Amino acid sequence: MIVVETIDALRATRRDLKGRVGLVPTMGYLHDGHRSLVIAARQECAHVIASIFVNPTQFGANEDLSTYPRDLPRDLAMLEAEGVDVVFVPTAAQMYPPRFQTYVNVEQVSQGKEGASRPTHFRGVTTVVSKLFNLCQPDDAYFGQKDAQQVVVIRQMVRDLNFPLRIHVCPTWREADGLAMSSRNAYLSVEDRQAAVTLWRALQAMRTRYEQGERRAAMLQEAARAVFATEPRAALDYVSVARARDLEEVETADEPLLVSLAARVGKPRLIDNMLLPYHLNSREGATAVLGVG
Ligand code: AMP
Repeated sequence: MIVVETIDALRATRRDLKGRVGLVPTMGYLHDGHRSLVIAARQECAHVIASIFVNPTQFGANEDLSTYPRDLPRDLAMLEAEGVDVVFVPTAAQMYPPRFQTYVNVEQVSQGKEGASRPTHFRGVTTVVSKLFNLCQPDDAYFGQKDAQQVVVIRQMVRDLNFPLRIHVCPTWREADGLAMSSRNAYLSVEDRQAAVTLWRALQAMRTRYEQGERRAAMLQEAARAVFATEPRAALDYVSVARARDLEEVETADEPLLVSLAARVGKPRLIDNMLLPYHLNSREGATAVLGVG
């Protein structure tokens, strides 16, 4: 496994790779969700490039950039064990040299939900991901359903800017009790870790109501709110019922849905989501409906 820290070294390494190249962008502090993306890339591509970069432009002024968890030696050991060929670990100065002033902004699908709570977040994501696409020139890029709005925003960018690559959406990996794996779970106290399962319980309540035939968004949202009302440690930020293809909020569900929510549980702000009907929560289902159409 080659670890490269500079753009020049990455470009030189990329030039030598023949055959399909898969890219897995991450912010490090890797867990089994990240691992599943690497495994998918490894199965389908001749070479796998992973990136580890805590991207400052996607953090708001009052967010956790300086405290974001990091463990590079452990991350590199995991990536090596999974057969990654190249790891790109740039410094912020490499990615954003002095006088940097060009940003990529996807206008509509980045509004609302995470975009409403974190106004500059997706501009940072699309800027860094477009830089990574230009630098790594992947044929395939792997993202997690965990960050579903990010997938929709990136797919829009890929279409609009004609990036010649395919986006793959991998299912959300969960702890045994249903909590979605996240690097930010490391911030949870023991009590808050218990309360964090409320996000998953709220999604399950929405699924149950949906499977009973409920199609009114307000009623599905009500089911989620009722679950949060039982857990004072978890503060719901939003619960969204949107079309999976473009994340437009709906009043009545008549096509595949993404139900998504965000909540503060102690220190961290956590997000989770589910596609409905539930069988869409697979690699094939999510890749077919999320941000497509
Ligand atoms: P991050 O390091 O949090 O920026 O995540 C890097 C990639 O891993 C993104 O495409 C995420 O959507 C994905 N990811 C994060 N958590 C999970 C999870 N629990 N299951 C699957 N993919 C995930």
